[in-house]
Amino acid sequence: MGGGRLMEFDLTVEQRLLRDMARDFAKREIEPVASQHDREEKFPRRIFERAREQGLINLTLPEEYGGGGLGAVDVVAVTERLARACVGITAAVSLNGLVAEALVLAGTEEQKRRYLPRIAAGELAGYAVTEPAAGSDVAGLQTTARRQGRGFVLNGTKTWISNATEASLFLVFAKTDPEAGHKGLSAFVVERDAPGLEVGPKLGKMGQKAAPAAEVFLADVHVPAEAMLGQEGQGFRLAMQVFDRSRPMVAAMAVGLIQRCLDESLAYSQTRASMGLPIILHQAVGHKIAEMSIRLEAARLLTYQAAWLLDAGKRNTLQASAAKAFAADSAMWAATEAVQVFGGMGYSTEYPVEKLLRDAKLLQIYEGTSEIQRSIIVKELVR
Ligand SMILES: Cc1cc2nc3c(=O)[nH]c(=O)nc-3n(C[C@H](O)[C@H](O)[C@H](O)COP(=O)(O)OP(=O)(O)OC[C@H]3O[C@@H](n4cnc5c(N)ncnc54)[C@H](O)[C@@H]3O)c2cc1C
Repeated sequence: MGGGRLMEFDLTVEQRLLRDMARDFAKREIEPVASQHDREEKFPRRIFERAREQGLINLTLPEEYGGGGLGAVDVVAVTERLARACVGITAAVSLNGLVAEALVLAGTEEQKRRYLPRIAAGELAGYAVTEPAAGSDVAGLQTTARRQGRGFVLNGTKTWISNATEASLFLVFAKTDPEAGHKGLSAFVVERDAPGLEVGPKLGKMGQKAAPAAEVFLADVHVPAEAMLGQEGQGFRLAMQVFDRSRPMVAAMAVGLIQRCLDESLAYSQTRASMGLPIILHQAVGHKIAEMSIRLEAARLLTYQAAWLLDAGKRNTLQASAAKAFAADSAMWAATEAVQVFGGMGYSTEYPVEKLLRDAKLLQIYEGTSEIQRSIIVKELVR
């Protein structure tokens, strides 16, 4: 054996402190109100403000613009702790990160100075890619951005835009050249109060109800040339770069949810008895819980690896997709089994596990479906 550096699986002291702060915050501020937010489908404004004040969001925003100046590993360490308490609330308070990452990646100094401090100060920003006729097919978007004078005119409809009802800014992806496929896509920062921009009512959904999603309508919305983020025709590339950063975060939400499934199942199965035994001693039940633990550790390792590669400045596309697909699919599996472990009580709204099942499903859909993650992995393998 050589004398090389040991492989390090531990977090730094600072990261452990941050993670523990997130764990305590989740226990104190999120867990007690998670089911209320789920029932009332309310954006968690107070939790958002507190998380912001405590430095648990906007982590990767550079410090000069009011952020934490931290990395992707810090983000996943915090996210999994928050998500253990409620994935919906975690999504609501963290999804600003998508627009912030895009601004950090592609913004001019002037754009960063104009928009990032607003996000750091608590304004919400919607990341608007998906349309009624194009979700997985990002290159097939139909919203157009036509040049007019020095600026552009945007027309189209976006759907399922998280936090749209609360947002004061949007990052809108639109076709500047409808004939050029994915090379015809560009990104624009659009103010909520721009004439012609309308946000529809909150869309009804199965889970993650604390994170409202809505349609955004763009009818002859004029934006100046300076609203374009990155180069013309580089919007697809930017969206893919943002995915490399956001997918480890979504995977971390899934890890938090699997942890919760394990914790709830472990506790319940030791107190619930049947046929003279705590149900955990029935092998059929015990093995489900062992399998949850196996998938939790595997999902966590994939997630931290995808984040670590980003922080190390290495390409992480394959690992981000693998982490996202495996963690999301495992979360769905674990939530289904947690309901099973609870039996009839698993189906009851009085216990937290039916919500875990509803919240988990979305993890397999947004930020690229589990099928799309596998297609990306194949592309990366044959690259
Ligand atoms: C609650 C919620 C919040 C969301 N938040 C946002 C947001 O903030 N911003 C935003 O832009 N979008 C957001 N989305 C949209 C989300 O990213 C899309 O729903 C998702 O990418 C899937 O697109 P689609 O719904 O059009 O499904 P489709 O693309 O129509 O897919 C339908 C099915 O076909 C499969 N499929 C499609 N194409 C392929 C293929 N090439 N190969 C294999 N299988 C394929 C899919 O995997 C899926 O199973 C959100 C969605 C939801 C439900």
